[in-house]
Amino acid sequence: MPDPRRATPRTDAVLADPRLREAVARLGPGLVKQTVGLALDRCRAGEVTPDQVADLAVDSLPAVATALRRVVNATGVVVHTNLGRAPLSSAAVAALGVAAGATDVELDLTTGHRGRRGRSAVAALAAAVPDAGGVHVVNNGAAALALTACVLAQGREIIVARGELVEIGDGFRVPELLESMGARLREVGTTNRVRLADYADAISERTAFVLKVHPSNFVISGFTSSVGIGELASLPVTLVADIGSGLLSPHPRLPDEPSAASALRAGADLVTASGDKLLGGPQCGLVLGHRGLVESLRRHPFARALRVDKLTLAALEATLTGPAPPVVSSLASSPADLLERAGVIAGELSSEVEIEALASTAAVGGGGAPGVLIDSAAVAVPAHLAEPLRLDAVQPVVGHLERGRLLLDLITVAPEDDVALVEAVRRAALSSHPPGAD
Ligand SMILES: *Cc1c(COP(=O)(O)O)cnc(C)c1O
Repeated sequence: MPDPRRATPRTDAVLADPRLREAVARLGPGLVKQTVGLALDRCRAGEVTPDQVADLAVDSLPAVATALRRVVNATGVVVHTNLGRAPLSSAAVAALGVAAGATDVELDLTTGHRGRRGRSAVAALAAAVPDAGGVHVVNNGAAALALTACVLAQGREIIVARGELVEIGDGFRVPELLESMGARLREVGTTNRVRLADYADAISERTAFVLKVHPSNFVISGFTSSVGIGELASLPVTLVADIGSGLLSPHPRLPDEPSAASALRAGADLVTASGDKLLGGPQCGLVLGHRGLVESLRRHPFARALRVDKLTLAALEATLTGPAPPVVSSLASSPADLLERAGVIAGELSSEVEIEALASTAAVGGGGAPGVLIDSAAVAVPAHLAEPLRLDAVQPVVGHLERGRLLLDLITVAPEDDVALVEAVRRAALSSHPPGAD
């Protein structure tokens, strides 16, 4: 056997392969050289022969210049934070393609002069929330809240109920964010109970506003009381409502989830929300409400640091004006239809893998409708398929384990992805053996 290290080709020689030259143009030289380097390492280790190096590099190249993978969300969690929250609608994806190049995001093509940045997205948002006198878009829900606190409450007090001092996830705590903007919190009530009088007693000349935070990821039950927006609006101070999930109007399946329209109608002066939760759009934060207040936020120097890019504006506009985004379609899907799809999938795979179609329970997740169970349907497969499905080279699929089986819930799977799901399960079953079956 010749020494594999001696026979290993030079990088330049491998890169001369026409397929790799084309890949350099498509993916950039760095990524291609790195992939070729890894293939050469395997040649040096004697794992592949010199004439297999180029083939291996070509096969290992990603399709696009990102290590991010498209994942089928079969978790049954409609807004899954670790999977990037809301998947965009095809209309939003198409809008991204248009906005990616030079675009009139801040130019009025009729006059040739500077125009209001993102005016069509802002107009779409204003049209979607007619109760809001003013609207503004920032980078995310936290930014909407931070801007509000920075402009209205620096060096002053925000009155907030103790039971609404929420931690959202990954260590992000609403009270800490507000304090980091130089506001002081005036906590009222106890963990489980607060009354209108508690708020009223806390009002002083230091008060900037009363904040109502939607407890978006937990429920307190038992001996509880809280004060609704309608009652808080009777207080003689500004009222800000952080509704979190970004529902613009009430949703029949989520009766307890606050919406921007209902919060404004009940008397909130400002509403803040996320764009990539139940609204189903790109990551962004919405500030809606009293025109003068929204303008003072928009014109503040800090607003520039929270400004959204043209891609976000384009995707938001398409989400608002285009067909229902996936989050909205998921929530509208009928359990019977989902069970029928599960039956078809199970039927296709039943001779290859232990599989069962069954009714399941999905959740909104990602800071919305806590405790709400949504009727759905899934296929159950052996638990040991979880890892090969996640690691599938063609189409990673993420499900969730329940009572010793892997459930692939269909509420979050677009019907056009059923075929890819079937293929992925088939590959996973072929490539893996149940534990202890050798
Ligand atoms: C999600 C959420 C936020 C934070 O929004 P991001 O878009 O994640 O920054 C703030 N408040 C509430 C009530 C939320 O649910």
